[in-house]
Amino acid sequence: CGIIGHVGDGEAIEPLLTGLENLEYRGYDSAGIAVQNGAGIEIAKRSGTVDELVESLEGTHLGGSLGIGHTRWSTHGPPTDENAHPHTDSTADVAVVHNGIIENYGALKERLQEAGHEFTSDTDTEVVPHLIQYYIDRGHDGETAFRNAIEELAGSYAIAAMCDGDDCLYAARDGSPLVVGIDGDDYYLASDVPAFLEYTDDLIYIEDGDVVVLEPDGISITDANGAPVRRRRETVDWDA
Ligand code: GLU
Repeated sequence: CGIIGHVGDGEAIEPLLTGLENLEYRGYDSAGIAVQNGAGIEIAKRSGTVDELVESLEGTHLGGSLGIGHTRWSTHGPPTDENAHPHTDSTADVAVVHNGIIENYGALKERLQEAGHEFTSDTDTEVVPHLIQYYIDRGHDGETAFRNAIEELAGSYAIAAMCDGDDCLYAARDGSPLVVGIDGDDYYLASDVPAFLEYTDDLIYIEDGDVVVLEPDGISITDANGAPVRRRRETVDWDA
């Protein structure tokens, strides 16, 4: 339902949780975040409200400048803690949030299970981190693995992913909205402008078929073949 991501200088946790609160108006049944801190990916997710997620984090420190967050409106699998996003592969080296529906998840799941992948949720989404990991296991770097995985998906999606050890976020869309916000060296990724509007109104709308890589020193937007595409950078005149 709602996606938020952060890459930059500061800690990701605050913009992620603020983004989730800003996305609440869309409706949701579960919320979660994943942060990368140089010592692996840490995840906090649960069914229920963003407030409940925030309360559950009291006394913990999820550090790291790179992160993704999600409010879920379930389509595949009931609103349980396990089905909340972010989803990971078995080793939690890849974390993914997803809006929309992966129509061919059944066939992909079967293929991945035959290849030894173990699934822990009922969602269509969980095939995505497993598919990315499948390609990493076969020697591809994070970006290539992400591209290969996206190419196999049918359905409608906005997806944000991060891989342990890669200092960047990967994102792509087909049929669901995605927008990048720019505030100096801080970058935001969201399904919807209000998610990050108190941080920046300087943004780029991503289009279907685009693959985005957000790094601390810049963003790249390319087509499915890796050729650069130009997207307009604009300032929106919305009230935060
Ligand atoms: N189909 C996914 C799920 O049920 C994502 C739903 C959404 O857009 O929130 O988990």
